Amino acid sequence: MERRDFLKKTGMAAAAVAGTAISAPSVLAKEKTYRWKMVTTWPPNLPVFQTGAERFAKRVEEISGGRLKIKVFAGGELVPPLGVFDAVSQGTVQAGSGASYYWAGKTPAAQWFTTVPFGLNAQGINAWFYSGGGLKLWEEVYAPFNLVPRPQGNSGVQMGGWFRKKMNTIADYKGLKMRIPGLGGKVISKAGGTVVLLPGGEIFTSLERGVIDATEWVGPMHDLRMGFYKAAKYYYYPGWHEPGTCLEVMFNKKAYDSLPKDLQAIVDAAAMETNMWSLSQFEAGNGAALQELITKHKVELIRFPDDLLDALRKLTKETLEEEADKDKMSRKVHEAFKKFKEQVGIWGSVSENAYYNVIADKFSLKG
Ligand code: CA
Repeated sequence: MERRDFLKKTGMAAAAVAGTAISAPSVLAKEKTYRWKMVTTWPPNLPVFQTGAERFAKRVEEISGGRLKIKVFAGGELVPPLGVFDAVSQGTVQAGSGASYYWAGKTPAAQWFTTVPFGLNAQGINAWFYSGGGLKLWEEVYAPFNLVPRPQGNSGVQMGGWFRKKMNTIADYKGLKMRIPGLGGKVISKAGGTVVLLPGGEIFTSLERGVIDATEWVGPMHDLRMGFYKAAKYYYYPGWHEPGTCLEVMFNKKAYDSLPKDLQAIVDAAAMETNMWSLSQFEAGNGAALQELITKHKVELIRFPDDLLDALRKLTKETLEEEADKDKMSRKVHEAFKKFKEQVGIWGSVSENAYYNVIADKFSLKG
């Protein structure tokens, strides 16, 4: 066969196949460009949180070849930070980014999907989401609000917080005014503390002036940026209250369902990829920032005493049971979370924890 004829024939055959296999609506869907708006709960430029949401949008546009363009608005730019849930739920915008524990007032069960005090670390909560049915449950919790959730980041284990006085026993929480959100805050209330909720921009001044006695924020990288070392002397660890905080992206269900299947797969993949990227950013940045806090700013790094942690653990158990009693869905999520934690069991102790102990000498706090 002549080359030209061959090309002509195969070309015609391909065209014939294309003509029959691709129906008109899917051709249109493939050509259509979708333009979405995404609002976040984060201040502009907040590293990893806001920049992670922006990265997610950028990756969706890149991977889709420009077929889905998402314009990102930081907290307050289009809707107030805590208006994100409603804006996406009502379809004012198609997507939002935040943390599910902000929506405890909408549905208490949401709290389990950000982080649980003394619960799973980043590795564990990701395992729950992707390989243990956690994400399916989260979808069930958000479904009545027309929302589709996806994990989109993780801070890893956070720090315990900045304190203006030393914390020796659980009694030291009595009368302590602390900025601490989520389930951890409920535990501190139970310990006799006063939980103060402040917007990010007001925490430093409140701590410096003694309006609050303590605050937690994120980890060394973000805490250094906030300058807390200038306002409180003692930097406590570990962040028992936020052992692996998951950041979320959520989509209006109607908007998500209206996407062709391949674009749905792209937003899912970009969310999962950004989840990985975010944890890597924290891991890469926190160690260096901690070193700077200790050596340059002479911060006193202190581990919470064991007895104090044991007391907090006991109060956490009570708090979680009370929260789970709030409605049927919270009970269901709490039981599933507990069951998965039991399934993971002591594996972490004989793997990651044992390994960290082996290399502890080399990377000791004093070294
Ligand atoms: Ca925190």
